[in-house]
Amino acid sequence: MMLTIVVYCLLAALAEVIGGALVLGRTQWPARVQEYLLALGAGFLLSLVFVELVPEALAGGGSEAPLLMLAGYAVLHFFEHTVVGHLHFGEETHHEVMVSRAASISTFLGLFVHAFFDGFTIAVGMQFNFTLGLLVFVAVLLHKVPEGLTIASVMLSAKCKRSTAFAASIAIGVATLIGAIAALALGGVSDRMVSLAFAFSAGIATYVGASDLIPEINHSRNRVIPVLVFAGMVLFYVGKRMLEG
Ligand SMILES: [Zn+2]
Ligand SMILES: [Zn+2]
Repeated sequence: MMLTIVVYCLLAALAEVIGGALVLGRTQWPARVQEYLLALGAGFLLSLVFVELVPEALAGGGSEAPLLMLAGYAVLHFFEHTVVGHLHFGEETHHEVMVSRAASISTFLGLFVHAFFDGFTIAVGMQFNFTLGLLVFVAVLLHKVPEGLTIASVMLSAKCKRSTAFAASIAIGVATLIGAIAALALGGVSDRMVSLAFAFSAGIATYVGASDLIPEINHSRNRVIPVLVFAGMVLFYVGKRMLEG
């Protein structure tokens, strides 16, 4: 079981590195594809939050669950948009804010914490309920390629070497694995710990869907993108039916 969870998180980390490689390969990665993935990911993830994660967290975590969900949301907000000045998903297009090395390092740290919790959420979900965890995995996987692309393009905007940019996407992938290992360690403590961590990760997932992905979609000039959020919701429904067989 533990090995299975690590393998899934490794796949998510791999998608991150592929995202980084796409930016560096520069076969002119179409911006549209990145937006499609973010929109599908947002619809899928938010459906997962409302239909599964919140009800399950309440059922499993009891009276402590609501506060833990809020804590999960607050922790990501703190690391991504309070201590970090400029972080958004998708290719970095604001080269003017990336002139200082400090800006790119703080964006890197924000994404590192984010990716840590991606891995954490997958691993906690799979320990809580494996089928549910698989849905969490798909939800995270959908935005992992754009995430790898984000960090590599941030580093390039900050005039880092291409090798540094690629290394940064690998580091963010590694953060995903560290998060998974942290969740597995918590799972080793007690089942109660898994339920509490699950409630926390429901708050994390809410933040990723509503505050990382949706704002990017709303900024898009392509009006097809917001429609794809609904496609992500349908995709979630289909995936859930398939897994529950
Ligand atoms: Zn930017
Ligand atoms: Zn992520």
